[in-house]
Amino acid sequence: MSREACSEEFAMPEKKCRVELLACTPDPLGLIYAAFRQCYHAGDVADMWPRILSGEISRDRQAEFVEKIIGSGHESPVEHVSFTFALSGVSRALTHQLVRHRIASYSQQSQRYVDASCMDYIVPPAIAGNAKAMARFEACMTEIGSAYKELKELLEADGRGSHACEDARFVLPQAAASSIVVTMNCRSLLHFFEERCCSRAQWEIRGMANAMLSICRRELPEIFRHAGAKCERLGYCPEGEKFTCGRYPLPSQH
Ligand SMILES: Cc1cc2nc3c(=O)[nH]c(=O)nc-3n(C[C@H](O)[C@H](O)[C@H](O)COP(=O)(O)OP(=O)(O)OC[C@H]3O[C@@H](n4cnc5c(N)ncnc54)[C@H](O)[C@@H]3O)c2cc1C
Repeated sequence: MSREACSEEFAMPEKKCRVELLACTPDPLGLIYAAFRQCYHAGDVADMWPRILSGEISRDRQAEFVEKIIGSGHESPVEHVSFTFALSGVSRALTHQLVRHRIASYSQQSQRYVDASCMDYIVPPAIAGNAKAMARFEACMTEIGSAYKELKELLEADGRGSHACEDARFVLPQAAASSIVVTMNCRSLLHFFEERCCSRAQWEIRGMANAMLSICRRELPEIFRHAGAKCERLGYCPEGEKFTCGRYPLPSQH
């Protein structure tokens, strides 16, 4: 359905999650290596930096050093490297969970300023896979779209002008699609993946976290090779008998 047609019928077409890497700190491994080396080196790491950049200190040597120190629990040097992602086609239910991660920076599409008369929505797979549930869901989305547009027009007629959207949005659902730019440093990302790649995390944020992890692994395998749910690092599942997915043993069986 085209956006124009959607606007006419007040329907809100389905949208798919998109994860794009916008930026990553340049020379990420070298920078982390330099930060680690400064901790244990009597001289200035600035003098070592050209040898890191030129490859005179090889990538393998940098990686070996970094992986050994991280294994000891000294993690703060990885904070010097950040990744910025553009995330779109995700629900407001997802972004509400995402922004609970405080060690990050966010810029989210505004429901105050962006007209949602033709807004997209996210359909949970369990609903999409059940014809009756899907019909009910779509009817509800259409009704919400219609109510939003009507409220906006009523408020505009009352002279609320550009402020109409900020009140009409109160009827929008958690399914409403959103776009958000997020920047996290590597330490925060490692923690984010531990929580959100776990099978206990909600399906939508888990799918997005796994897509982000694939990108991080491609860009910086030395840091993200073993990243993922907590069990990947621990070798056991800390979630307890009730919540474990069974992929790793519980501590009592470990
Ligand atoms: C499976 C699952 C279920 C959840 N269920 C719920 C729920 O029902 N209700 C709910 O409200 N939330 C829930 N959450 C959200 C969860 O409680 C966290 O708010 C969210 O995962 C962000 O994690 P964080 O605080 O560790 O991350 P960040 O905010 O990025 O913080 C990273 C780390 O920094 C440190 N830190 C940050 N701020 C502080 C601080 N103020 N004081 C001390 N240390 C700090 C902590 O070590 C923290 O782990 C759930 C999360 C998951 C993964």
